[in-house]
Amino acid sequence: MVTHSSAKTFVTLANSIYTDRPIPLHRPVFAGPEREWLVECIDSNFVSSVGARVVEFEQRVAQFVGARFAVAVVNGTNALHVALRLAGVEPGSEVITQPLTFVATCNAIAYAGAVPVFVDVDADTLGLSPEALERFLKTHAVIRDGRTVNRHSGRPLAACMPMHTFGLPCRIQAIVDICNRYDVPVVEDAAESLGSWADGRHTGTVGQSGVFSFNGNKIITTGGGGMIVTDDPALAQRARHLTTTAKQPHPYEFVHDELGYNYRMPNLNATLGCAQMEQLPVFLERKRELHERYARFFADTGIALVTEPEGTRANHWLNAIVLPDRDSRDAFLQQTNDAGVMTRPIWRLMTSLPMYAPCQHDGCAVAADLEQRVVNLPSSVPVDADGHIVERIGGL
Ligand SMILES: *Cc1c(COP(=O)(O)O)cnc(C)c1O
Repeated sequence: MVTHSSAKTFVTLANSIYTDRPIPLHRPVFAGPEREWLVECIDSNFVSSVGARVVEFEQRVAQFVGARFAVAVVNGTNALHVALRLAGVEPGSEVITQPLTFVATCNAIAYAGAVPVFVDVDADTLGLSPEALERFLKTHAVIRDGRTVNRHSGRPLAACMPMHTFGLPCRIQAIVDICNRYDVPVVEDAAESLGSWADGRHTGTVGQSGVFSFNGNKIITTGGGGMIVTDDPALAQRARHLTTTAKQPHPYEFVHDELGYNYRMPNLNATLGCAQMEQLPVFLERKRELHERYARFFADTGIALVTEPEGTRANHWLNAIVLPDRDSRDAFLQQTNDAGVMTRPIWRLMTSLPMYAPCQHDGCAVAADLEQRVVNLPSSVPVDADGHIVERIGGL
């Protein structure tokens, strides 16, 4: 069987690239000024959510992605929750998203009191399909009292939240264009795509707002953390307000003018973030080289490596392959994991989880096929035995 010998040689390849045993799917790399800057942060006593590194981290990310404003928060899920509130998502409304995503996308919708509705993905980007979105809106969207409403449920279609899967940019400009015609704001779940561009624009900066995650498995980490980016000064100000308990500025009074959250990122985490941003360009280079190494390997196997869609530049956060069928997928997973090389199937579709199974969907045929066949490969930035980032990717 093709898959059997491919899995075996893949294990050899992975062992030649990585010094880790077993080889994880993705681990963080702290090869920059992390230790030095963290000690400085502790010595300053400013370890909590007021501190110079929070402002610096926001500026670094804003500048890197080309957004006017960035607001740092405690994790990506909460960043999505706030971004949805900024978009006007209220309890009892609906948010269009994709069935193929990490559960946080849908949980954030639920935290805002809204209900997800699922529209299929494209097979090449693994992200929301503009054609499927257009079809859905044509069939279901009506304008009532100046609001876009789903005629199927009678609820407002308050936002659309596409996700850039594994750092592969989805067709975000087409999605935004369609949503603009229906007056539906777009919040980009760019949690996985720091360092990914589509048509020259960084992911997360095309819609009304975008969200990044700095969880321990993402391309850079703050331990836990998230960021909302936007070009709209009013939205940025409201994001700051909502994430700091909606407290009105006052020298001594505590006045909170709406339901807010304690979501601001601590200075300690932002310090880690600043040190990680120093290394992001190198991470991106090595990840591209790793992807190219994998591409050469899979070229003669009959197994498809998912590559960046045309006109985009992906961060290659997590590499993914598409196996011919469910059986060969299972065989590949079994053989590699047994050999200490961690590989993982793509998420179960959101439409199959008990919380979201009752939600409206468009059939999601492409996502259902991908769910059976996609596998993620080890994709960390390779380091040597001393923890230094390797100069060049090893290989067979
Ligand atoms: C990681 C991730 C998030 C947010 O994650 P946090 O762990 O809360 O930072 C949201 N959406 C997607 C698609 C993700 O991969």
